Amino acid sequence: MCGIVGYIGKKQAGPILLDGLSRLEYRGYDSAGIAVRGKRGVEVVKSKGRLALLVEKTDGGKSLDGTVGIGHTRWATHGVPNETNAHPHCSADKNVTVVHNGILENYRELRQKLAANGYKFYSETDTEVIVNLIDYYYKKYKAGPVDAIARFMQRARGAYAIAVMFRKYAGAIYVARKDSPMIVGVAEGEAYVASDVPAILKHTRTVYYIDNLEMACLTRKGVSFYNADREPIDKEAVTVEMDASAADKEEWQHFMIKEIHEQPRAVRNTFDRYVQDGKVDFSEAELTEEDLRCKHIVITACGSAYHVGIVLQYVIERIARVPVRVELASEFRYRDFLFEPDTLVVAISQSGETADTLAAVREAKAHGVKTLAVVNVQGSSIAREADRTVFTVAGPEIAVATTKAYSAQLVVGYLLALELARVHGAVDGTEYTRLLSEVASVPDKIAAILSDISSYQRFAAEHVNMHDVFMIGRGIDYAACMEGSLKLKEVSYVHTEAYAAGELKHGTISLIEKGTVVIGILTQSGVYEKTASNLEEVKSRGASVVGITFEGHALGSEIASACWTVPVIDERFAASLLVVPLQLVSYYMSVQLGLDVDKPRNLAKSVTVE
Ligand code: GLU
Repeated sequence: MCGIVGYIGKKQAGPILLDGLSRLEYRGYDSAGIAVRGKRGVEVVKSKGRLALLVEKTDGGKSLDGTVGIGHTRWATHGVPNETNAHPHCSADKNVTVVHNGILENYRELRQKLAANGYKFYSETDTEVIVNLIDYYYKKYKAGPVDAIARFMQRARGAYAIAVMFRKYAGAIYVARKDSPMIVGVAEGEAYVASDVPAILKHTRTVYYIDNLEMACLTRKGVSFYNADREPIDKEAVTVEMDASAADKEEWQHFMIKEIHEQPRAVRNTFDRYVQDGKVDFSEAELTEEDLRCKHIVITACGSAYHVGIVLQYVIERIARVPVRVELASEFRYRDFLFEPDTLVVAISQSGETADTLAAVREAKAHGVKTLAVVNVQGSSIAREADRTVFTVAGPEIAVATTKAYSAQLVVGYLLALELARVHGAVDGTEYTRLLSEVASVPDKIAAILSDISSYQRFAAEHVNMHDVFMIGRGIDYAACMEGSLKLKEVSYVHTEAYAAGELKHGTISLIEKGTVVIGILTQSGVYEKTASNLEEVKSRGASVVGITFEGHALGSEIASACWTVPVIDERFAASLLVVPLQLVSYYMSVQLGLDVDKPRNLAKSVTVE
């Protein structure tokens, strides 16, 4: 779930490990630790809370002697976040030291087995079971590290990326993974391992992607790879293109606000990649007309990407007249889904590592259903496993709460809607061109909203004490509310709900009282007046109402205490603009409250466990 970094080379490992971990901080974590192997053996230092504490404890890593080490930022799943449960974990005799991302599902059963064999446990983690199981196999079969790890992999259920040091193998780090990301980087006389590219980008761009159930052994002379049968395998190195400076905050106070402002560029770059000479061109993704002739679309995703799916359901059905279902990937994977013939499954994920979405792709493929991935990270698991992949060109997204990746995903979806409409004969050439030019106008219109942020700052300052917010709308306006509400929850911890405006009366309106904030979105022409009436209803029950609508359609002050407007666009693409004020309000609310905007409590950037 969180961060792994490992180093073997000629330089002092401590500072490299801490620097690498700091580049993974954006993923969210609650404790951290490093283990460095020096003349005195393996030395482990851990701390609860921010990495800065670990930096302080170890004098920036310099107090640890040695040129081999592994480090971890933990997001606790088994056992409270404290120093004892933090990684790295060691076997009692320090024979084996491990850092682990993920969850070992059958850890109870394995823990019992090990206890019966005399193993004692000092932590509550599932990871300590991994350490001792590897130690057990290592000692029992005496066939070396690769054999011991392979035996662990045969017994383990769940997701893991692990980096392991063995006492007897001073010049090596062993790694393995299943359903949790991990890459290996190489440079002259040194090797790195990390759960994500930014951790090592400063040192090398030559990277190997480790596939599921594969292992690697890192030494100063190079890296060898093995399959689950312990056989050596060949792998090709990939040169990572990612721009290192994109993972830099520059003059911005937080990554989130930087990334909000990067949205025009993210949307334009994504649009430009897939539009040539006035036409959508998905040939790079190998998406064929036959794929697009599908009769049903199932979009599956989690969190904000799921909200993109909700918007696209309206957009695709209205423009292309192809029926769309949107399914939470965490539900989809277990529900024994009934696939209609000629279905295309579209899986959306920023990281391309979202465990549930990856499982949904596998589920679809197991049923022989074609899959299209929309992801932001080249080489990610979902990109590699889906039949077709369209990449969003948002650049690295560091803030835990997504903004620019959401916007880039929407644009891919709009282009997909247009292509489906063309192939299904739902639009003529003129309408296709008109709609495409509307999509092309999104970046400038987002930039226009971003050019004056004062009303959102003011709202946040005036409402620091608000504790209940309802966001209501219909159709695409409702879909935008869902994402706005999630954003506000994520970064400001304010309780908020997105509601289909027509549903209020069926229960929720009982929660409206004096001072409850209700944000109403009204851009969809067919339902503008209906949502306006709902806002009147809550206003008369004491709510403080804010409207968001197109320029020229502002609500009067008799209903709304504030009304924010966005530039006019074809209403089917309105979500791209509506989300921006809601992102800004969420951001400034978090800043007002003095919260950790980029790393909200309990959240991780890419959810690689269930
Ligand atoms: N399940 C492990 C633990 O709770 C690892 C969590 C993580 O991925 O950081 O320690």
